[in-house]
Amino acid sequence: MDVVIFSASEYEKPYLDAANASGQFTFSYIEAHLTPNNVSLAKNKKMISCFVLDDLSEPVLKQLAQGGTELIALRSAGYDHVDLVAAKKYNLTIVNAAAYSPSAVAEMASLLMLASARQLIKSQRRFRDNNYRLDDLVGVGIEGKTVGIIGTGNIGTAFAHIMKGYGCKLLAYDPVKSDQCIALGVNYCDLETLYQESDIISLHCLLNPETHHLINAEALTLMKSNAILINTSRGAVVDTDAVIHALESEQIGHYGMDVYEFEKGLYFEDHRKAPIVDPRFLKLKAMSNVIITGHQAFFTEKALAQIATTTIENLQGFINGNPVNQVSIS
Ligand code: NAD
Repeated sequence: MDVVIFSASEYEKPYLDAANASGQFTFSYIEAHLTPNNVSLAKNKKMISCFVLDDLSEPVLKQLAQGGTELIALRSAGYDHVDLVAAKKYNLTIVNAAAYSPSAVAEMASLLMLASARQLIKSQRRFRDNNYRLDDLVGVGIEGKTVGIIGTGNIGTAFAHIMKGYGCKLLAYDPVKSDQCIALGVNYCDLETLYQESDIISLHCLLNPETHHLINAEALTLMKSNAILINTSRGAVVDTDAVIHALESEQIGHYGMDVYEFEKGLYFEDHRKAPIVDPRFLKLKAMSNVIITGHQAFFTEKALAQIATTTIENLQGFINGNPVNQVSIS
């Protein structure tokens, strides 16, 4: 059976081919992201697969459905880029690669936290100039600190395990409490308490209308002046202008970001020949208390293999009339 794979990167093809070693599916790899301009590439293809920067807004979903597409297998856990209302309207089944490697993202969150706490960006910039003086590089120890986790699903729970290992006090906010987190000693509290008491705040919630700009000017004002904020969830959970202001005015201490509100067209691309002009991103990049990774928290061998295996299982589930990992509006 034919499957069109949009946003197919060279690095993931070997994993998808290995997961499809039986040859059950014939993949057409398209390097480009899905857009209204190339949606015709999916014409007459019942099944397609997409990643986070593919356009899955209503006009594209409508065209896909008119062209005969029935299934969109996401190669991501996040599905905030899919118009689920339109997907339902056009009878499109959406499945995701849920929980492919929560530890991969949780480990990256802990890396960004440690790099912030130990002034890694500042020290690397200074050492490159052969200045090995330690002035201003005094770090913060993590043991005994209070960590606030927003969103205790798969990744937030994995992060709680790591932070427990560091000897931290754990606070969390999530409308749905995790038994695993409670067993670990996580104390659930309201957001205001979490903002006020946490030394480190790590975001692991879904992006939805409720969490869009959850970290806004008001939230940032409540945080400690040396707080470390980490975002590996989705860029728009943080109001970028508000966080830039909070960093500039020393309302918070550090920001570690793997995801960026305006990352579309920026991340996953080589900009060496077309310099970046986004003033917000340039500001963040210039700050020595900001560490940036390019939406690479998921990017481990284990995660790529698991995404590929789950994608094959999702395709098989659909053709067997028993879709798994389906996401839909509640
Ligand atoms: P998950 O569905 O297991 O957990 C998400 C949690 O968010 C759930 O427990 C849910 O109850 C909670 N939540 C929903 N609304 C909330 C609210 N208003 N406030 C607080 N919590 C709320 O998802 P996951 O796999 O753990 O993914 C977590 C986040 O990480 C998602 O945003 C996902 O898109 C992102 N992610 C990023 C990368 C990366 O490479 N940076 C990779 C995978 C996932």
